[in-house]
Amino acid sequence: MKKGNIGVTTENIFPVIKKFLYSDQEIFLRELVSNAIDATQKLKTLASFGDFKGQLGDMDVRVTIDKEAGTLTVSDHGIGMTADDIEKYINQIAFSGAEEFLSKYKDTANAIIGHFGLGFYSAFMVAKKVEIRSLSYKEGAEAVKWTCDGSPEFTMEPADKTERGTDIVLYIDDDSKQYLEQARIDSLLKKYCRFLPVPVISGKEQEWKDGKYVDTDRDKIINITEPAWTKKPSELTDEDYRNFYHELYPGQEDPLFWIHLNVDYPFTLTGVLFFPKIKNNLEIRKDRIQLYSNQVYVTDSVEGVVPEFMMLLQGVIDSPDIPLNVSRSYLQSDTAVKKISGYITKKVSSRLEELFKADRAEFEKKWDDIKIFIEYGMLTDEKFCDAAMKFVLLKDTDDKYYTLDEYRTLVEASQTDKDGDVVYIYATDATAQYAYIQAATEKGYNVLLMNGELDGHFISMLENKLTKTRFVRVDSDVVDNLVPAADKKATSLSGEQISLLTSLFRSRVPKIEKAEFLVSFEELNPEANPVLITQNEYMRRMKDMAATQPGMAFYTELPDAYNLIVNTAAPVVKRILDDAEKTVGEKVAPLNKAVADDNARIKELRDTAPDGKLSEENENQVKHLSETAEHNRNEAEKIVAEYAASQPVIGQAIDLALLANGLLRGRELNEFIRRSVKLL
Ligand code: ADP
Repeated sequence: MKKGNIGVTTENIFPVIKKFLYSDQEIFLRELVSNAIDATQKLKTLASFGDFKGQLGDMDVRVTIDKEAGTLTVSDHGIGMTADDIEKYINQIAFSGAEEFLSKYKDTANAIIGHFGLGFYSAFMVAKKVEIRSLSYKEGAEAVKWTCDGSPEFTMEPADKTERGTDIVLYIDDDSKQYLEQARIDSLLKKYCRFLPVPVISGKEQEWKDGKYVDTDRDKIINITEPAWTKKPSELTDEDYRNFYHELYPGQEDPLFWIHLNVDYPFTLTGVLFFPKIKNNLEIRKDRIQLYSNQVYVTDSVEGVVPEFMMLLQGVIDSPDIPLNVSRSYLQSDTAVKKISGYITKKVSSRLEELFKADRAEFEKKWDDIKIFIEYGMLTDEKFCDAAMKFVLLKDTDDKYYTLDEYRTLVEASQTDKDGDVVYIYATDATAQYAYIQAATEKGYNVLLMNGELDGHFISMLENKLTKTRFVRVDSDVVDNLVPAADKKATSLSGEQISLLTSLFRSRVPKIEKAEFLVSFEELNPEANPVLITQNEYMRRMKDMAATQPGMAFYTELPDAYNLIVNTAAPVVKRILDDAEKTVGEKVAPLNKAVADDNARIKELRDTAPDGKLSEENENQVKHLSETAEHNRNEAEKIVAEYAASQPVIGQAIDLALLANGLLRGRELNEFIRRSVKLL
């Protein structure tokens, strides 16, 4: 029997392992099973090169619980270890500067374990004693047993093992008894070992018998040894991909499509990425991409490892270049991992372009579903954005799809404004904005449908990327002004008429909570509605943005500002004006004249005051004049308002416009209906 000290420079590493690694305890099983798989694969490799000539036989890895003995054993039939091997690989742990390192990385168990190749020693996180029983594949090798009780001392002695391979026996600690439960072990194996390349057996298959589950004599294999991503795309059918997807994420709808990743230069990487079916749902997803290293599960915390927009995708990425045992922050700064991320981006965009080119109709059919990925990608990843400019689609209100180039060609001639900007007109709600869409289409404009969750941001981005391009929502102005032309018609009304019309309409605008209306006039098509309501593009965007950005809450408090545009060419407006002029024109004209005179006098006094300073006497006079002007103005307003109140047609015209915009609700709506009934 040999006794010795494990080659660790610190006094006793095991308490340290236990203490610091506590949170990630469960990875011990991954480490031991991975080692067993490695040993198995190594022997298979040796055999394939003719360096091992014996029988391979049963090569399965077994995880066995013995509750009575309090042990958990991981067994393999791999290459095994001689006493020399154990001395070299297990006893001599290079461990320099341990304390310094531990203090730096104490928050992440993985970092320590991975950094020092301490995979095997992680067993001491859950075991008070560990035994290795091993028989090497080498000819004439003797079986050996290594025992260590958690102190740096170990013993090594001959063993009576006759089967080739290694058993790692863990005498489970009293406070880790959970690892003697079959269900707990199974769930860990499912998590970390589900796709390992060698069958891993844990317990027995069960069957339902006499009202309970009982063990059969069939071994329970917990893993799929050849998952889809390890095969060539040519070997797989669509059905295979879909089955694999459902294996990964049970209970979900079929994915839209997938991308099979397969590179071996400049790094090795395989995987399958799925585009799941989600519509308007950007919340953090729990079924995320999983990272594997040679089929060993590493993590599904992939932030920073895959490009951000791919967080919306699902599937598997496997690369031996992904370090198995490191923390996420380490993963993010790893240059190999960075390259991987860049590669995946490129691959995803080129695959999308391929799909687009190969089958445009199919691509369009999927567009509404994948749009959110692509817009998110374009908004968050410069490189992806540049690539996607070729295949990103715009959809119009007739459900037609265009590339950016196609769309420009389509609208350039008819929608270029006086400054040479091409105006892209869009709707965010085809139903609510129906009347505006209709008006724009009748005028020969094309209207895009931008109703996606990210479209607001996407529009801003396109305005930055595309030169001389401006987006306006279809209801941001009257149709004649959406694409401003150079020769705007001046109104033919007099100032007196404008002021009369303003008072008439202003007095009939209902009070609506959080909404403000600015009355203005346009000489539009006589066929167009007499009153239209529009919402300023800029203000609306500010408010939309504010809704999602905490720093801008101020904007959300502001009322919505609408323009109430009166079409002075509409026959009914003409009639309203005519009637008003006849009925109240004579009454308000002298009042308005008095106001104008008073204002003129005030201005004169101010302008002629020496050094711009009014004398006390003039100061009083200005005050007096302002008061009478104010009084007369109110008087005129009152007369007009009283008159307007007796003219249901004004309120009706306004209410119709409000109704068309979904702004007429509650009491106002009720009154509108009653008034309409009366008019009938
Ligand atoms: P790592 O696996 O990172 O090298 P470990 O501490 O887990 O670190 O293992 C150290 C070494 O011990 C392995 O590289 C391998 O040579 C040997 N080893 C561990 N487990 C087995 C096993 N089941 N069969 C054969 N060799 C093993």
